[in-house]
Order: sequence, then C-alpha cells, then structure tokens
Amino acid sequence: AYPTEIREYLFKVLVLGDSGVGKTSIIKRYVHNIFSMNYKSTIGVDFALKVVQWSPDTVVRMQLWDIAGQERFGNMTRVYYKEAVAALVVYDVTRPKTFEAVAKWKSDLDSKVSLPPGLGGGSIPTILLANKMDLHEDHSPGLNAEEMEKFCDEHGFLKWFGTSAKDNNNIEDAVTFLLEDILATE
Ligand code: GDP
Ligand code: MG
Repeated sequence: AYPTEIREYLFKVLVLGDSGVGKTSIIKRYVHNIFSMNYKSTIGVDFALKVVQWSPDTVVRMQLWDIAGQERFGNMTRVYYKEAVAALVVYDVTRPKTFEAVAKWKSDLDSKVSLPPGLGGGSIPTILLANKMDLHEDHSPGLNAEEMEKFCDEHGFLKWFGTSAKDNNNIEDAVTFLLEDILATE
C-alpha cells in the first residue's frame, strides 16, 4: 500500500505580554519540557520550533516567537507580527499590572496583524494565559471565571487558561485548543 498524503503546516505563533510574566518559561516548557527559575532575558527575538504530529496524516510545525526583552520598550514592530496566524497573551496572576497590560498587548496585536482577506480579515485567533497559577492566592485579580469570560468576550480572546510553567499545568491544553482553532480555518 502507498502511504497517504501527508499534510504539513507551518504556523507562526506569537507569545506576548509584559516582562517577567513567564513567556520564555511557557515556551521552554511546551517545546522542551523544562523549567528554570532564571532564563537570561536576551535582547532580540527568539524562536522555538515545536513539531506536532496532529493526526496520522497531519504534521504541524509551530514556530513560537518569543519577544525576548523587547517587551520593555512597549509595543513591537510590524516585522515581528508579520504573517503570524495566532497568538498567546500572557500575564502573571501575582502582578495586577501585568493583567492591566493585557488589553494593550491585544490592541497592539490587532492593529498590526489580521487574518488574510480570504479568511475574513478579522483578528488572528488569540488566547489569554493567566500564568503562575501555582503562586495564586484567592485575592489575586482577574480570576473570577465569569469576569474572565466577559473580559475575553470584550477583548476578542477565544478563551483563557490558568497555567503554570513551573508545574507544567494546562500549557499543552491551551496550545492544543489554539491549534484546533487554526486548523479549523485551514
Ligand atoms: P518572560 O520575561 O515573560 O519571558 O518571563 P520568564 O519566562 O523569564 O519568567 C520570569 C520569572 O518567572 C522566572 O524566574 C521564571 O522562573 C518565573 N516563572 C515563569 N513561569 C512561572 C510559573 O508558572 N510559576 C512560577 N512560580 N514561576 C514562574
Ligand atoms: Mg523572556
């Protein structure tokens, strides 16, 4: 028997959010399954490639773009956003200021990249990650499920996930959810 045709995709996925929220940690956890308390924040843009055997006949190569220090300067250049098909916006549940910045990251994203006209030209699929859930205390802001869903609706996030790069909690599920959405429109 001949092998069936293999479908291969290459997806550029952006990881956005304030400095120190855990962007690099989430990428390292997802791609290499490692965690460290100190990643040096390199200046520039970093990439990590994750190859996912999605199904017997579908392979996804996901290029995760880490803004690696640039977040300190505020918004990113258009070049960084170019041809991205999806994004993760991350905040740190222990630092309210990083949640306040989420809306800014999302509007910067929406102003610089959109789906191709053939796919309606709207904003690219984006999810919100509430990271460092292992450190979460009940009084941390923004974690009431109902309020979080309302926030997602209002700001155009598909969904939010509470994650921990440290404990390897929910990261794979979040990325899989995003991939499902991307593949549904391919
Ligand atoms: P970035 O600046 O957004 O890339 O953040 P980093 O990935 O460099 O993480 C900043 C700090 O937070 C580092 O000391 C990480 O070890 C720590 N960190 C990242 N994710 C988690 C997490 O889920 N839980 C805890 N407790 N610490 C985390
Ligand atoms: Mg980083």
